[in-house]
Amino acid sequence: MARKLDWDITVPYKWTTGPVIGKFLGGLKEHTILGGKCPACKKVFVPPQDLCPDCYVDLTEDDFVELKNEGEIISFTQVNQNFFGEKPSDEYLNSRISPADVSEHPLLWPPEPPYAIVMVKIDGADTAMVHLVKGNEMDKLKVGARAKAKFKGETIGHILDIEQFEIIS
Ligand SMILES: [Zn+2]
Repeated sequence: MARKLDWDITVPYKWTTGPVIGKFLGGLKEHTILGGKCPACKKVFVPPQDLCPDCYVDLTEDDFVELKNEGEIISFTQVNQNFFGEKPSDEYLNSRISPADVSEHPLLWPPEPPYAIVMVKIDGADTAMVHLVKGNEMDKLKVGARAKAKFKGETIGHILDIEQFEIIS
């Protein structure tokens, strides 16, 4: 007779960023946004990719340019209410992916609404990156607004070293 067993399966793993994303994340640790510049077509990608999607040339850790920490909001989605009920405890979330502190990881659990998922085109880049706008910044959010990366005081080389983008005009 078949029986149903009901529990979670956790698969711990480590993932290497590779040299290109690793350099980008290392830049964030130093409060710097780096763009990967294709040596062939000269397009600048933020975040960078291992391969130029237009001309298929490999990018390396030597193909980087330092950009300003500012850009333009080109689109956004505003979230005004929680879809997922009450947030699980930090202990529970941290037990799911160890040893990272995942309590505010937007892919695991979103921030408290209201917040916006934004596409920011950093000055000098040809692509836009996904990030967050939260709190009082929401009142100023609009397509075309200028935004500046607000870095955390303590950074670890993670996309959330940028706490959010602040609207500056
Ligand atoms: Zn290219």
